[in-house]
Amino acid sequence: MVQRLHSLGFSLIIISLVLFGYLFTQHGDGYILAILVFIIGLLLLLFTSNETNKERSLLCRIQLHKYQAVGQDSDINSKFIYECMRCRRRKSVFRAF
Ligand SMILES: [Zn+2]
Repeated sequence: MVQRLHSLGFSLIIISLVLFGYLFTQHGDGYILAILVFIIGLLLLLFTSNETNKERSLLCRIQLHKYQAVGQDSDINSKFIYECMRCRRRKSVFRAF
């Protein structure tokens, strides 16, 4: 079910992009419809990416997840290791203090 909504959101975004391209060439005025379809698709992706528990969710990629410092790189002192509190993805960040 969730996986289905996820792919539906993905296809809605593609449809809206195609619609945008079509309207651009035809000089039509249905931009609001294209924008609406795009927003609906994006919202579907946002909500379902939380559920599907993918390794790189959309929310995580746009930095909406909270990161927690879990350690420090043993080789470089200013390199800190952060872990996402929701999807456990790790990233290392350079900090200058
Ligand atoms: Zn995350």
